[in-house]
Amino acid sequence: MMNIRLNIDVAEGYKSKSQAARVFTELWVAENMFCPRCGAPFLNHLRNNAPVADFSCPSCGDIFELKSKSGSLPNKIPDGAYDTMISRITGNTNPDFLFMTYSPVDFRIEDLILIPNYFFVPEIIEKRKPLADTARRSGWVGCNVLIGKIPNQGRIPIISDGVPRDKSAVVADTTKLLGLKVEKLSSRGWLFDVLNCVNEIESEDFTLDDAYRYVDVLAAKHPDNHNVEAKIRQQLQLLRNKGYIEFVGRGKYKKI
Ligand SMILES: [Zn+2]
Repeated sequence: MMNIRLNIDVAEGYKSKSQAARVFTELWVAENMFCPRCGAPFLNHLRNNAPVADFSCPSCGDIFELKSKSGSLPNKIPDGAYDTMISRITGNTNPDFLFMTYSPVDFRIEDLILIPNYFFVPEIIEKRKPLADTARRSGWVGCNVLIGKIPNQGRIPIISDGVPRDKSAVVADTTKLLGLKVEKLSSRGWLFDVLNCVNEIESEDFTLDDAYRYVDVLAAKHPDNHNVEAKIRQQLQLLRNKGYIEFVGRGKYKKI
């Protein structure tokens, strides 16, 4: 069984809370985390390397960035420089994202989720205000990752409410999710936008008209597209081919 307790003793002597948190959460990953993509038993710590690439898998070579926070899962997570993040996403070189929350009382991990890199689109990166003239890095522009805007399917639980899941279940989820991997950014945006709409429909069964209720929302997000209905039908077909929904008859669908 995976140990979920963070060893905060290793961060003794750090004055900055965020630096201390980085030390004990990164140590936990180095000592406990398997590769959620291929199941390799451990990840290598890329200390002193690029600021956002924290771990790599010795077997499949995948790169993971760890972010952590005490308390509950937020809808947005502060990250590094805005321009760097956008160029990583548009160049398909951004790492997978591991996000950890832990109890500020007993330092046990509450949630750990994986967000694969191909779930990142520029729309989920929020530009922060430039740092004030008085700041040490005056003018620097950071970003927030709006994880609340990522479709549920793109957030794979590794630890949920303090309970670790089986490695085999996590790897099965990441493998299945590869079906939703789309290299081209514009196509990726459409797929996840339509998936978010489908997720918002409350019932398991829905009709094409239910999906068309999002035409205005989607048209506002994609002003260059003048046939949003056709695009919705195309994305629903894609989701069916990838095994996320079923066609049950003329204009009728079912979530799987
Ligand atoms: Zn791996």
